[in-house]
Amino acid sequence: MLHIATSWALWPALFAAGLAGAGFAFRTDAPLLWFNVVYLTIVIAIAVFERLMPYEREWLKHDGETLNDIAHTLLTKGGVQIAAAIGASAPMAIATVAQPAFASAAATWPDHWPLVLQVVLGLVIAEFGLYVAHRAAHEFLSLWRFHALHHSVERLWVVNTGRFHVVDSLFKIALSQIPLYLLGASLPVFLWISAVTAFIGLLTHCNMDVRTGPLDWVFSTPRLHRWHHSKVLAEGNTNYGENLVVWDQIFGTYFNPPRRPPADIGISGRIAEGFLAQLVQPFSAKGFRQILGRRHKPQVSSLSGKEEAVPE
Ligand SMILES: [Zn+2]
Ligand SMILES: [Zn+2]
Repeated sequence: MLHIATSWALWPALFAAGLAGAGFAFRTDAPLLWFNVVYLTIVIAIAVFERLMPYEREWLKHDGETLNDIAHTLLTKGGVQIAAAIGASAPMAIATVAQPAFASAAATWPDHWPLVLQVVLGLVIAEFGLYVAHRAAHEFLSLWRFHALHHSVERLWVVNTGRFHVVDSLFKIALSQIPLYLLGASLPVFLWISAVTAFIGLLTHCNMDVRTGPLDWVFSTPRLHRWHHSKVLAEGNTNYGENLVVWDQIFGTYFNPPRRPPADIGISGRIAEGFLAQLVQPFSAKGFRQILGRRHKPQVSSLSGKEEAVPE
């Protein structure tokens, strides 16, 4: 009984705790510092529950990638934070140049709405960019070469949430954030969107035995994301949403059949060993072929990068 009650409560409780912590952090004099403290606290809480009530026991085993996962997380998330803190992130710089050209569009942001509604609107708009970027990363080899790093994991747990190639991350950030800058969304909207993204992301990858029920229709939950990591193409090329699954619902890539998502995940291509090798691998022809898991040159006509990455 306690297990069932906890498995229903965990996702909403940890998400709410993260948002409450973010709300506290944003009111302090050092919002970034306190936000990171809250983030780390939620990471630790999830890691504890992963041991207490794992979804998949096999995923508790070490895969030798933990340090690489952390390094990629620090580079992508940490780098973005530092850039944002000094006010020089790529989207910001681009928007500063582009915004005057879109002066009328910039005036369209509904600043007079209650903040919570502005954040919801911002999440839906940002999610469209995230959806396009993520789906393209699966359907074009030129982008799959960067995204494969994320799918090379054979276990899902809180620590490999941030395992993204930095190019993959920048592409996603650009497509999701630039429209908001151009529309003139204010800083609090950006802060809250990043908070929601941070905590939903942590939960998405967790190896906790959580039940999300009707939440699966709205949010990118662990259950939906486990399907996304499936080795089976028809299952894996679905559920592209990062926070919300509204665009998956609209474009027909939503996937949530009534059976257990796979525990056997990964790709057939080979990802290099070591953080730096993983960073440079997509840039060389040899590395690209290794990622695709084939020796000869890939077919240019192929539409799905993932299709190429799974053995025939
Ligand atoms: Zn993916
Ligand atoms: Zn993932």
